[in-house]
Amino acid sequence: MRFSVLCGILLGAAVIPGFAADGNIFAYKVGSFEVWTLVENRRAGGIPSTLIGADKAALDRYFPGGTSESETNTFLIRGSGKIILVDTGFGTTLFDSMKALGISPDAVDAVLITHMHGDHIGGLQKDGKALFSKAKVYLAQQERDFWTKTNVNQGAVAALAPYGNRVETFQPGELGARIAELLPGITPIAAFGHTPGHTLFMVESSGQKLLIWGDLMHAEKIQFPRPDISVTYDTDPVTAAASRKKVLEYAAANNIPIAGMHLVYPAIGRVSAEGSGYKLTPAQ
Ligand SMILES: [Zn+2]
Repeated sequence: MRFSVLCGILLGAAVIPGFAADGNIFAYKVGSFEVWTLVENRRAGGIPSTLIGADKAALDRYFPGGTSESETNTFLIRGSGKIILVDTGFGTTLFDSMKALGISPDAVDAVLITHMHGDHIGGLQKDGKALFSKAKVYLAQQERDFWTKTNVNQGAVAALAPYGNRVETFQPGELGARIAELLPGITPIAAFGHTPGHTLFMVESSGQKLLIWGDLMHAEKIQFPRPDISVTYDTDPVTAAASRKKVLEYAAANNIPIAGMHLVYPAIGRVSAEGSGYKLTPAQ
C-alpha cells in the first residue's frame, strides 16, 4: 500500500529534493488517495508525568530505557480531485512541508479538525488572516461549541474567526455505523473524551481504509499495551480511555490501518491484539 516517494517525485511534475530521506514526510496510499504524514516536531525525553494510572511496574515495563518519544504531525490527503489537510499542527513547519510537496495553501479545499487544542489548529490563521485562502474548515459541532461558548478559549475563537461562513460543523458518527460522508471518501467518527468533540476521520477509497486520529493517545509505548491509561490533557480521562479501547479493538479486529497526530514517524501502521492490549506495526 505504501508507494514509493521517489517514484511519485519522478512521475509527478514537482521536484522534491531530499525530502524522502529526512524522515519528516512519509507517503502512503489508500486506494486512489495519497496521504502524507508531515512531521512538525519530534520529542524524546523522560517518561511523561501526565500519565494517569500508570504504576511503577508499568512504567518500568513499558519505558525500560526511561524515555518516551512523541511527535506533532499533520496529515495531507489528495484524492477525488481535492486537497485535504487533517489538523494544522502549531503551524511552524507545515507550510515548508507543503512547499516540498509542491502544494500551495491556496490549493487546499478543506481542513478537517480533530479537536481545538493549539497543536492542532495553530496553523489556521496568522495575525487574523486565514492561511488557507479558499479552504472550508470542518469540525464537530460539540467541539466548536465547547471552545467558543462553554469554555471559551481565545485561541480557538481566533483560529475560526477569519474563516467566517467557511466553517462547517457536523455530528460525528459511531464507529462501525453507516455515516454520511463529509467529502467523497471521508467520514467523521466520534471518539470523545480527550475533548468533548474529539473526532477521527476515516479515509476510504477502492475498498481500502485509513483511520486518522488526533489525540487518541500521547505516549504510544504504554497506551497501545495499556489503553486504560489516560493523560492529564484528556478533558474526561475515563471517557478517553473507553474511546481508545473501542478504536483499538475495532482497528485490530477489522485490520484497518491507523494514523495518529502524536505517533512516532511514520505515524501510520496496523494495530493488532497482544496480550491484554495492543501493539502497533509501523507502515514501511
Ligand atoms: Zn495534540
